[in-house]
Amino acid sequence: DQSLRGRTALVTAAANGIGRASAEALAARGATVIATDIDADGLDRLAASTGGITAQPLDVLDADAVAALVNSLPPVDILVNCAGWVHDGSILDCDEAAWDRSFDLNARAMYRLTKAVLPGMLEKGQGSIVNIASIVSSEKGAPRRFAYGASKAAIIGMTKSIAADFVQDGIRCNAICPGTVQSPSLEDRLRATGDFDKALAAFTARQPMGRLGKPEEIAEMVCYLASDMAGFTTGQAFAVDGGWSI
Ligand code: NAD
Repeated sequence: DQSLRGRTALVTAAANGIGRASAEALAARGATVIATDIDADGLDRLAASTGGITAQPLDVLDADAVAALVNSLPPVDILVNCAGWVHDGSILDCDEAAWDRSFDLNARAMYRLTKAVLPGMLEKGQGSIVNIASIVSSEKGAPRRFAYGASKAAIIGMTKSIAADFVQDGIRCNAICPGTVQSPSLEDRLRATGDFDKALAAFTARQPMGRLGKPEEIAEMVCYLASDMAGFTTGQAFAVDGGWSI
C-alpha cells in the first residue's frame, strides 16, 4: 500500500507510543515523514530503523521553534498532532499549573501547529489534519481525569471548527479518540501508582475486550484519515477504544 506516496507528513510526539507507530505506518505507505519530539535520542533511533523518516527535535510548547520548523519545510500535506499529557486527579487535585499545562500541551500546541501548517495546505489546496484526542473527553468521563478530559474535549471542538472553516478548501480535519493504549507514558503512570500489576489489571478491566490497545491499532486510523480513502470524511471524532465507550 503506497497510498501516501508523494505526501509530506509532520508528526508531533513521534519518538514513542502512538506518535511513533503513526510515523512508522505513514512512512510504510510511502509518505515522507518529519518526526518531531523533545526526545532527540528516541527520534534518532526511529529514523535509523525506518526509511522515509527524518528526525527533527521540536518542543511543541515553544512557539518560535514551531514557526521556525514549519517555515523550513516544504508545505505539509498531513499533520498528526499527537503530543499530549495526562494530569492524574479530580478538579480538587488540579491546581492552576496543572490546568495550564494540560491545555498548553494538549490543546494550545495543536492550535499552534495547525495554524502554522494551514497556509501551506491552503496554497496546495489539500491537507489532512489528524488530532489525537481521547475517548476521555466530551465522549466519556473517567475518574481522576479532570484537566485531561477537559483539554481533550477542547481538541474535538477545535477539530470541528477547523473542519467547518476549511471544508471547501480541500482540507480535512478529524480527531481520534483512543481508549487505553500500551505506551511508555502509560507504563510510567502504572508504575507511579506504586502497584504496577494492580493498576494494569484495573486499566485492562476498563476495556471490554479484556486487553489494552496497541499503538499500531491507532496508527491504522491515522493512515486512513490522512489518505484520500477518507476524502469524504471531515470534522469527526473516531473512537478506537476496544469498546470502552459502547
Ligand atoms: P507517550 O505519552 O508514551 O509519548 C509521548 C511522547 O510525547 C514522548 O515521546 C514525549 O517525549 C513527547 N512529548 C512530551 N512533551 C512534548 C513536547 N512538549 N513537545 C513534543 N513532544 C513531547 O505516547 P502515548 O501514550 O502514545 O500518547 C500519545 C497521545 O495519545 C497523547 O496525546 C495522549 O494523550 C493520547 N492518548 C493516549 C492514550 C494511551 O492510553 N496511551 C489514550 C488516549 C489518548
